[in-house]
Amino acid sequence: MSNAVVPSPRFQTSMLIGGEWTGAASGRTFPVVNPADGRVIADLPAGGAADVDAAVAAARRSFEDGRWTGLAPRERARILSRVADLIDQHKDELGLIETLDNGMPLGQARDGHVPAAAANFRYYASWCDKLNGKTVDMSGGGALYHAYTLLQPVGVVGIITPWNAPIITAAKLAPALAAGCSCVLKPAEDTSLTALRLGELLIEAGVPAGVVNIVTGLGAEAGSALAAHPGVDKVAFTGSTTTGRAVVSAALGNLKKVSLELGGKSPVFVMNDADLDRAIPAAANAAFANAGQICSAGTRLYVQRESYERVVSGVAEIARNIRLGNGADAASEMGPVVSEKQLDRVVGMIRAGLDDGAEALAGGGRHGDVGYFVQPTILANVRPDMSVVREEIFGPVVVATAFDDPSEVVGLANDSDYGLAAAIFTRDLSTGHNFARQVRAGTVWMNTYHVVDLSMPWGGFKQSGWGRENGLEGLMPYLEHKSVVAAL
Ligand code: ADP
Repeated sequence: MSNAVVPSPRFQTSMLIGGEWTGAASGRTFPVVNPADGRVIADLPAGGAADVDAAVAAARRSFEDGRWTGLAPRERARILSRVADLIDQHKDELGLIETLDNGMPLGQARDGHVPAAAANFRYYASWCDKLNGKTVDMSGGGALYHAYTLLQPVGVVGIITPWNAPIITAAKLAPALAAGCSCVLKPAEDTSLTALRLGELLIEAGVPAGVVNIVTGLGAEAGSALAAHPGVDKVAFTGSTTTGRAVVSAALGNLKKVSLELGGKSPVFVMNDADLDRAIPAAANAAFANAGQICSAGTRLYVQRESYERVVSGVAEIARNIRLGNGADAASEMGPVVSEKQLDRVVGMIRAGLDDGAEALAGGGRHGDVGYFVQPTILANVRPDMSVVREEIFGPVVVATAFDDPSEVVGLANDSDYGLAAAIFTRDLSTGHNFARQVRAGTVWMNTYHVVDLSMPWGGFKQSGWGRENGLEGLMPYLEHKSVVAAL
């Protein structure tokens, strides 16, 4: 592991409330740590209930006085497009901040995550002036009534984001803003720095003061206050299924609308007829991309018996050759996991699997003793009841199982509380499309993995979430449909 010499960018270390950059009302702060070396790189305000109150009040004022929702739709579109342009123009800076804060390789941050965030703003900018209600010929009305619908913004939205893809998830502001909502964003405490820089770019682009507020702080303080706040009309949460449940409970008070993008334990099937030269690297990428910290990571690998040895040894070989290192070092292919807490959790889960009788074909523990690196790990000899097979690990760990008959595939795929994604590698069209129909997952990939697009709905069946993001489906939760009936 080489110690990369990294220029230090300027960090925004205040929160954004009502257009002002400010500290927490309590004056408290918390440290931000670079997971590649464990060093503190900034201190951020530890926002709490009073700060969330102030942010929600600012959002409410901005919503009620129409400074955003009252703009011509094409003006909102122009401003959101400008946000996208500014993100693109600052991709080197934003990418470096992301790497220092989250640990991911710089190339991935700068050339993958930052442009994806820009694309989200650009995509939803183009929806602003295409959101229309309809006139309705009422089923019981005939010529007696003139009836139509209006699409109106849902109001003040709380957006709570995770640490695995900080700027991409902060860009979940885009559909809310396109709909005309005012927002309070609570980024993950481990990775708030790109969200704060994005806040500066939103203002520079012309988003009026108070329309986007950003409160930093711990989940149990700022996050729970936002989820419970009676002045919030909708909360969009991305994170673990456990915390998603807490958000739902907190939302009960005022029955705010809730959308949830939660965890997964997504299966990858490799059939005997698959193109294995394609399936093997794809299965490795499914599990190890972003150090496995992706909600849709392909972490259950099922291979038809005849191909099992070749596929698992191929994935293990790739795992052993992945270059781990400080994300700021261009040679690094995989960075650390995000925090010491995650390191302990991931290593603890691997250990539990090994104690239960699993065998590590590659990896199996921590890498080095500086920073929070985990060896890419493939576990074989697993049983369906083991925690490593059932629970989301959110680290670079995949479990491998052989199966015999294609008729087993759907049952194995659906044997999970989760249902975010699933993949199958096969040359047989019927096998592939039948799998797609029968598997209970929000996204199904055939002969590929991790292909996510803004125009395709994204979300989970079962305990992987409520609702869909991306596409028009991702905009609708930010809009109320109002029916207007006039007697003629
Ligand atoms: P992790 O436990 O791995 O940090 P979480 O799903 O808890 O993952 O975190 C996702 C986001 O949810 C973060 O912004 C975090 O601060 C926030 N969060 C954590 N606990 C709560 C809570 N009780 N209510 C609302 N948000 C929370």
